[in-house]
Amino acid sequence: MRDNFSVQRLGKNVGGYHGETVEIRTILGEIGRMAAEKNWTVDRIPGPVEFIACRREVPSPGRRVYISTGMHGDEPGGPLAALELLREDLWPADAALWLCPCLNPSGFALNRRENSGGIDLNRDYRHLQSAEVRAHVEWLGRQPDFDLALCLHEDWESAGFYLYELNPDHCPTLAERIIAEVAGVCPVDRSAVIEGRPAQEGIIRPVINPMERPQWPEAVYLIARNKARQSYTFEAPSDFPIPVRVAALVAAVRTAIGLRGAAGGEIR
Ligand SMILES: [Zn+2]
Repeated sequence: MRDNFSVQRLGKNVGGYHGETVEIRTILGEIGRMAAEKNWTVDRIPGPVEFIACRREVPSPGRRVYISTGMHGDEPGGPLAALELLREDLWPADAALWLCPCLNPSGFALNRRENSGGIDLNRDYRHLQSAEVRAHVEWLGRQPDFDLALCLHEDWESAGFYLYELNPDHCPTLAERIIAEVAGVCPVDRSAVIEGRPAQEGIIRPVINPMERPQWPEAVYLIARNKARQSYTFEAPSDFPIPVRVAALVAAVRTAIGLRGAAGGEIR
């Protein structure tokens, strides 16, 4: 699909995210209600910050897909995309799904990347210093291993959508197909270097050795613990209108699970 150049950057994000914010409790209430309505199981783990996860079980799953978002409280596109995906509830029939719609509720209340204690949760998966990540990791320990993990984020500085692929076992890549579908709804950052890493057409393939990294993001934790050996971290550009970012994240998820990005039909 060709790049969609009809959407323009807003120019609001000077020094940080200055776009729309969301009332996260309302969104999570809606997600919980909708998930229950569509016969998903909703896990609620009480704690200093309630942890919510939704599961869609199928009789004999062909694959297990894990989706998480809301890790950074200044990235509202992710939880909104989770809500949209649940509202549509279009999934391949054989896919069992696990959805964590907001890993950092206290950060959203402050429109801040970190949690209310100032911890960047996406650097806390090695040492587990935050209650949020501890609750998340305990919950993950009770779930089966996943075939595919999708982590939905936003980047306030980015000129377009991009993604990270972690694929140490060299499974067939989904990256180019995802970028091609997203390009139909949102500009793609095609810079040669993104976030200091070499990139190609919106795709970053970092070579990682978890044991050499003092801090682990969620995606590195999933690989290091063999919880998911193929993962994609999506970064929507948050200096664009929020419907564009949500559409980009939704298209990326749909494509990754084998649905057509914009139309939603199954790819065969
Ligand atoms: Zn993020």
